[in-house]
This record gives sequence, structure tokens and C-alpha cells, in this order.
Amino acid sequence: MYKYCTCSENRFVLSLDNHVGIVEALTAFCKEKGIKAGLITGLGAVSEATFRFLDPAAKKYVDKTFSEQMEITNLTGNISVKDGAPYLHIHLTCGRRDYTCVGGHLLEARINGACELFVESFPDAEIGRYFDEETGLNLYKF
Ligand code: FE
Repeated sequence: MYKYCTCSENRFVLSLDNHVGIVEALTAFCKEKGIKAGLITGLGAVSEATFRFLDPAAKKYVDKTFSEQMEITNLTGNISVKDGAPYLHIHLTCGRRDYTCVGGHLLEARINGACELFVESFPDAEIGRYFDEETGLNLYKF
């Protein structure tokens, strides 16, 4: 699902295998390393991406899938823990063939080409999440 190296203490460089899901692979990596707080940054290319848009009035996510080849122009995320499992909050921006961009809160995206990621863990921290009724979001619990 991925290859990685440890480039310095608590910092990892990952290369995801072609055709895997980014969230699925990163969740597996966080489980393998026991990461409970951290940062993710990366780039690559995908053939499909599903974004979520939170409608603040309805407090509901509206999902939209783009099924086309796109460049990841930015992937930024954070790692926390919810219900004992890794909880990834990732925002993704993708560049299309016509050089316009789409993006948003990432549900899942499928690699088509490469995906290069840097992950930094904060081993002394464990950041939790709780569901906030007012916003409809899973907010940080310190
Ligand atoms: Fe988000």
C-alpha cells in the first residue's frame, strides 16, 4: 500500500502505491506507527477524488466526486484520534487538464501515478476529537 523511510526522528517520507486510496493508505500508516497527533503534506496525481462540503445551515456534508486525471497541487492534513482509531483531517486541491482547480475536505482519492507525502508525528501528544452539536463538526478535544 505504501513504501516509506524515516528521514529523522518522528518524520517520515511516504510513497503510496499506484491506485491505492490516499486516506486508506495514510490511516494504515498511522496505525502501523501508532501516530496520535501529527501533520501531513504532499503532492501527486489522482484519477478520482471525492470532496465533502459542509453545509453549515443543515450541518450536513454534501459529497461530490470528480472522476478524471488531476494533479494534486496541495494536500494538507492533520492526524488525531477518535474512538481509538486514527482520525485524518485532510484538505486537497487538484489541478485539472484545463488548469482550473477543484478541492475541499477530502473523503477519499485514488492515486494514478504517484503520491509523495511527508508525515511528522508528535509522539508526546494525543489529540482527540468530539462531535460538536453546534457546528456539526468533530472538533479537537484537548
Ligand atoms: Fe475539513
